[in-house]
Amino acid sequence: MTTLNLELPSVIAADAMRVLSIARRIVLTGEGAERDEAEFIAGYPLEYLTDVFAGANRIRIHFRGEEIHRCRIANVKSGKCEERCDFCRQSAHFNADSPEYPLVDEATILREAEQAEKDTAAELGLVASGYGLGDGPDFEKLLESVTAVKNQGKVNPHASLGIIPESSLRRLKDAGLEMYHHNLETARRHHPSIVHSHTYDEEVSVIRAAKKVGLKTCSGGILGMGETEEDRIDFAYELADLAPDTIPLNFYVDVHGTPLFGKVTPMEPREILRVISLYRFVNPRADILIAAGRAQHLRDLQSMIFFAGASGMMIGDFLTTPGRTVSDDVLMLRDLGMA
Ligand code: SF4
Repeated sequence: MTTLNLELPSVIAADAMRVLSIARRIVLTGEGAERDEAEFIAGYPLEYLTDVFAGANRIRIHFRGEEIHRCRIANVKSGKCEERCDFCRQSAHFNADSPEYPLVDEATILREAEQAEKDTAAELGLVASGYGLGDGPDFEKLLESVTAVKNQGKVNPHASLGIIPESSLRRLKDAGLEMYHHNLETARRHHPSIVHSHTYDEEVSVIRAAKKVGLKTCSGGILGMGETEEDRIDFAYELADLAPDTIPLNFYVDVHGTPLFGKVTPMEPREILRVISLYRFVNPRADILIAAGRAQHLRDLQSMIFFAGASGMMIGDFLTTPGRTVSDDVLMLRDLGMA
């Protein structure tokens, strides 16, 4: 009879212990991982990723609790965008297939809010294409819709209207908006290769302005757009510096007709899970929410995002692409004991 040797090779045991020791310190101090620790997590061997989950899951539960936060978005003004972001089907400069319509009316937005509540979301994000919807008749209409959603009382109104001035953000807050969303998209160094019509500092400035007027903030980006490993770590720290309440992470999905189409290698599922853990270790207090690309890239591994450190997910359809069914997502959370 052969005897099983259950002893771990010491190098593996030491690495697993180091993960837990970093996680312990983060839980005790609330301070995110140091740069060398982040590099250690980012380079952790994929075959031993569950070592990393042991730490990331602890940090998630400590700072965010066991229940998974759900949010839903509504595309309230779509397409014909004058900006040039290489991943985006809504840019008028590209030949990608995109829904195109002007700002939807208040009744439509209220129906979306009702649906969001039915879908177990806590809020509805109103998303408009374009550089920034911060003045003019459409902005006035949107302010009224924000107040209508607030008064309806089903879900909290959130908005993503691009790069808009502080005065417009203040008016949104006064209208009842809870949170403003604007993605930095990618790491500062990689941004000029992806976004050609506005700067990184403009992206950052709107989140800083939203904070200044007392709005909660949501800012993240899209991973898998050809950035380097170092870019991913830098981006995690850029977000830590900005300290939004929520960090949405999207994983790039190829779209025909955009400049990025066919130019990048899709991230593999375990690589995605590892990068989620990296962001959790660097941003322990943030609500890390997984958005587009979840179903396409993770497939059967979707439930593992929470063990990797994610504390939220977008449910329902994404901006321009359908998502997984809400009932499948809710069942997954119930099965995990996280709903
Ligand atoms: S990401 Fe936003 S700003 Fe950029 S092209 Fe798309 S809709 Fe326009």
